[in-house]
Amino acid sequence: MGTDGFGRRIDYLRISVTDRCNLRCVYCMPPDGVEWKDPNLMLTFEEMERFAAAAVAEGISKIRLTGGEPLVRKGIVEHIARLRALTGIEAIALTTNATLLPRMAFHLAEAGLERVNISLDSLDPDVYAKVTRGGKLSDALAGIDAAFEVGMSPVKINVVVVRSLDQDLLSFARMTFDRPIHIRFIEYMPVGGDEEPAPGGACSSESSAVGWTEADHVPSDEILARLVVEGAAAGLGALAPVAKGDAPGGWGPARYFRFDGAQGTVGVISPLSHHFCGECNRLRLTADGKLRMCLFSDEELDARTVLREGSDQDVRALIRAALAAKPESHNMRRGTVRRMSQIGG
Ligand code: SAM
Ligand code: SF4
Repeated sequence: MGTDGFGRRIDYLRISVTDRCNLRCVYCMPPDGVEWKDPNLMLTFEEMERFAAAAVAEGISKIRLTGGEPLVRKGIVEHIARLRALTGIEAIALTTNATLLPRMAFHLAEAGLERVNISLDSLDPDVYAKVTRGGKLSDALAGIDAAFEVGMSPVKINVVVVRSLDQDLLSFARMTFDRPIHIRFIEYMPVGGDEEPAPGGACSSESSAVGWTEADHVPSDEILARLVVEGAAAGLGALAPVAKGDAPGGWGPARYFRFDGAQGTVGVISPLSHHFCGECNRLRLTADGKLRMCLFSDEELDARTVLREGSDQDVRALIRAALAAKPESHNMRRGTVRRMSQIGG
């Protein structure tokens, strides 16, 4: 069993399969996308699978594929099937902007993908287009429908709450009445762009940098308070906490609530206002083969070199070294050199 230096059980690996994306969300990507890296610097799927097998031997049982947009990488369906076939893997999950799900959901489900987290920050087509710099809301909504049609479960929606976007949170809460969908409101995090800070905040800034300002951060307690007040005013009924055992099978630190009579839940993820480092259960592998112990720390181990020059035992030793080096907690509000799309949020 993988245990880190602070006694935390580490059983969850997030693999970023690409740092490219078909959208350009203002808080995640520069308008022109990321720099074209030498393809030799990126891990092949075979290398990722070899790493995953070593990780399973060191106690990992859950893998989430993310990016960039994981569905833009050619061969992703077959990659998922091979990961799913690893002995010791409990489930494979995917985080996606959903725009390619209408044509891919069926094949992904056939490959063994069961769980999907979909990123969607607004149900207003104009706000969605502004946040994603040109994305079409109808594509993302069709992706959600496709995930349900092929029976993925749970289907969760990630909403990054940014104050200057003035998002209509209740429009998301209403979705939980129609079907078992799980909305997670995520605090906007200071990740990326440390090398070129953007004044004026992510959404007011049209500059190339990824910006984060204190003013745009909305604490989860405020999000919950808004849901209670606005929900009551709109006649949605009471919002009650969901017991851990009834929560939608989470691998992470979300806290879940349910409106009276709703099929799905609303949750909050609060990395800044409520530290959850004590429950951290994960490691991250970037698309260029760096092993990250903490989302908020730029400390990385070079898995690519070990994968290319070392034995399977060397890869396992690197994973044990990562567990030993995992920090107790994060130095939040400091920013990171890599953007979220390069880390795999
Ligand atoms: N392209 C996929 C997607 O959008 O779901 C996967 C990669 S994306 C980097 C993963 C998640 O990170 C998304 O839910 C996105 O909203 C979130 N994210 C990106 N930048 C963030 C930030 N600064 N604060 C909070 N969440 C962020
Ligand atoms: Fe792409 Fe996801 Fe980043 Fe948006 S959040 S730019 S969809 S990687």
